[in-house]
Amino acid sequence: MTDLEPVNESWSNALCVVAHPDDLEFGTAAAVARWTDQGKTVRYVMVTSGEAGIDGMTPEECLPVREAEQVESARIVGVDVVDFLRLPDGVLEYGAGLRAAIARSVRVFRPDIVITSNFRDTWGGPNLNQADHIAVGRAVLDAVRDAGNRWVFADQLVDGLEPWGGVRAVWAFGSPQATHAVDTTDTFEAGVASLLAHSAYIDGLGWEHFDPREFLEGFSRPVGQRLGVAFAAPFEVFPMGWGG
Ligand SMILES: [Zn+2]
Repeated sequence: MTDLEPVNESWSNALCVVAHPDDLEFGTAAAVARWTDQGKTVRYVMVTSGEAGIDGMTPEECLPVREAEQVESARIVGVDVVDFLRLPDGVLEYGAGLRAAIARSVRVFRPDIVITSNFRDTWGGPNLNQADHIAVGRAVLDAVRDAGNRWVFADQLVDGLEPWGGVRAVWAFGSPQATHAVDTTDTFEAGVASLLAHSAYIDGLGWEHFDPREFLEGFSRPVGQRLGVAFAAPFEVFPMGWGG
């Protein structure tokens, strides 16, 4: 059954805003590789540096390791800019502070499309989503509007920084309410390589027999079937401008 629509790819500049290093690599990176291959610009903002993500490492030890892995995983899929906001991993709270931090990034990078990860309560089955993902996704939706309003977070508008109201849509990757998808068949291997760049993190998870390729295949194949291709990545699309 092909019930997912292809995403609209008539844009040139996307900003991916996620809570943690590795969030994009668990399924979105192959889509990013497709877009950078098409000549589009994609940049990443990590709200935290994932420093609370490895049980056997202190946050101080962990932060530079995870930032370095993220920079490398981005490079593999053609992303040269990774901005780390360094808010505290694991305890993000939805609110004006988080919205302001994300709105600033939107004003700086002036994207057409903003991509975040699923912020619904679950991933579709019984598996609960994580608190930081939910806080960031909700804040992204609001921050995109905040960024366009010169009277909201007006203190940011110095040194030439201007409001940016040009975001056409927010796409939430991996949402159980996905309506759209993008074909990742041709760039699937780049997506695997991008996830493999998070080796310290993957080792630290201690998931026995975790195989990144198998994981991404298992995730991408059923989505591909719903789009009529081999592999695909799913998105819930939130139109932000008038007329979507
Ligand atoms: Zn995460």
